[in-house]
Amino acid sequence: MKPSAALTTRLLLVACALLTATAAAQRGPAPDPLVKENATVKLAEHAHVIPDNSVPMVPNVGIVIGSRATLVIDPGMGRRNGETVLREVAKASRNTDLYIATTHFHVEHTTGALAFPATARYVNSKVQEADFAEGGAQHAQAWLSAFDVFDQMRPRTIVPAHGPVGDGSILAVNRAIMQGVQTRARQLKAQGRSADVAAMTVQTEFQAQYPSWPRANGLLAAARAAYAEAPQETSSRDRRPTHSIRRRI
Ligand SMILES: [Zn+2]
Repeated sequence: MKPSAALTTRLLLVACALLTATAAAQRGPAPDPLVKENATVKLAEHAHVIPDNSVPMVPNVGIVIGSRATLVIDPGMGRRNGETVLREVAKASRNTDLYIATTHFHVEHTTGALAFPATARYVNSKVQEADFAEGGAQHAQAWLSAFDVFDQMRPRTIVPAHGPVGDGSILAVNRAIMQGVQTRARQLKAQGRSADVAAMTVQTEFQAQYPSWPRANGLLAAARAAYAEAPQETSSRDRRPTHSIRRRI
């Protein structure tokens, strides 16, 4: 590593440490990761949410009530939260047929299922199964394709896995961030930066650019995914005409 590159890396690490410390000082001690009781909000005829109030390790819990069964999306972390979710579900409907789905594999989106009766059915897609198997590896390109699908649905209300519930404009913001992460990660890879340095750089830059974005903790993983998916850079020597050709010109 050249001295200048080493220096850049060190400066980035310091910058990250400062950012983290500032954020922690502003937030104070983290609240307990508990799904809030009696806090369910009706979003539409059949759709409810228990908002996360931006508490870390608490998801927005979705409750979709059908004529025969109820679907719970992201049942919270562990048995205690799962029990809270079940009490909220019982207040909203008498359906005893329960289905569970999760937005992604993290503990706060899955393990609340422990509290659910054995008859509850866990619904999982093949893509998500593969994700579980890989330990939640992210796929930046797959995210961007998913945004296209969501766009076609013209959603009125969006419940993200974490953070404030909002209107369709959430999609554009997330797409812009993900595209930005992908572009920057590709750039850094083309410049020959390592995956670690590139991911750290992307995280630092995007945290500074979008300080209030609730998914800042996902930037590192998204950047790594974008980096891994970026085409291998052909070395600059391969792109230049060879010496002999130049001599002939
Ligand atoms: Zn989460």
